[in-house]
Amino acid sequence: MILILAADTDLEGDACRALQTHLAALPGITTRVHQVRGAQQTLTEIYLLGDTKALQIEDMEQLPCVERVVRISADYRIIGRHRTDQGGFAFEYNGVEFSQDSFNVCAGLCAVDTPEHVEQMMRTLKAHGQVCTRMGAYKPRTSPYAFQGHGKSCLPWVFELAGKYDIRVIAMEITHENHIDEIRDALETTGHPTGVMLQIGTRNTQNFELLKQVGRQSEFPILLKRGFGITLEESLNAAEYLASEGNSHIIFCLRGMKTNMGDPHRNFVDFAHVPVVKRLTRLPVCIDPSHSVGSRASAPDRVLDMMHVTAQGIVAGANMVLVDFHPNPAAALVDGPQALRLEELPWFLDDVAIARDAYLRRRARAQEFAAQAANE
Ligand code: PEP
Ligand code: MN
Repeated sequence: MILILAADTDLEGDACRALQTHLAALPGITTRVHQVRGAQQTLTEIYLLGDTKALQIEDMEQLPCVERVVRISADYRIIGRHRTDQGGFAFEYNGVEFSQDSFNVCAGLCAVDTPEHVEQMMRTLKAHGQVCTRMGAYKPRTSPYAFQGHGKSCLPWVFELAGKYDIRVIAMEITHENHIDEIRDALETTGHPTGVMLQIGTRNTQNFELLKQVGRQSEFPILLKRGFGITLEESLNAAEYLASEGNSHIIFCLRGMKTNMGDPHRNFVDFAHVPVVKRLTRLPVCIDPSHSVGSRASAPDRVLDMMHVTAQGIVAGANMVLVDFHPNPAAALVDGPQALRLEELPWFLDDVAIARDAYLRRRARAQEFAAQAANE
């Protein structure tokens, strides 16, 4: 059962303390307080865990500070949409909004290599009004002999260059909990010129101890990749792990599934799940066309497969696009064959804008139809 408190309830106030004392006395019930900090207000939800069957919704609604009560039956207690729609997890991080309505592009390097390439990337992003990017410092590689990423040594100059070009959010994969401290330290020593969204890669979607550690910190939002060889339900439970530890500033990223059925694409594109994830959960949904398609192949219409699938995901309501670019793909140390070139960025952004506009028009039409049907 979830008690949704009135907006901006003071947890330390007398009324809320009385509520918590009352809940603590309920037999067989434990509570967990969960706060969602939005741009406008802070929403507090109290989760009642244990045997809640005997509790009546009407009684709970009478308690101080409680605005609404939701009985939950689904698996995804925190991230899920339950029978009563509680709205999405909207949050703002470093001036950028993320929600099931927002739209952001994180174009950048799969792997950080040289300061020159990072600077060229950042400069091009700024020239095209972009405030988010992706930069891999810690790379999980199939071969132990492949480039593993520069790790913490590159963080200070990557963050400084991001600040120089007004980049607000860098999506950066971490593969170990120590990396959170390394990122925090580097942001501290450079004076917080930018922000970081911690990315959990597809190989770590079910690294439960890592999920718990990342979920326990609330400084950084989280970009969770879908596991490439597990069911959607299993991946959504990974997101629930993060939220159950306290951090619900999560974006769920579809990146294709590992199966030869998707050949010649690198992974089987799973962007048909964009609306499914939005229906089952309150999380904003990201798509990663680069790791899904894995090449610069194009159709006879001259549109790259990567752009076709990006448009498909956006037309279906995706809230974010994570995409590999590189100033010189042939020289990229990781995933060069799937990197778009910097001069392709304006084309890519135009294509994205066309698809987003189509989605907004489709959504408006569906809402118009629903309103009409309700009036009949
Ligand atoms: C990446 O985004 O650089 C990456 C390694 O992705 P994934 O975990 O989806 O393979
Ligand atoms: Mn990659």
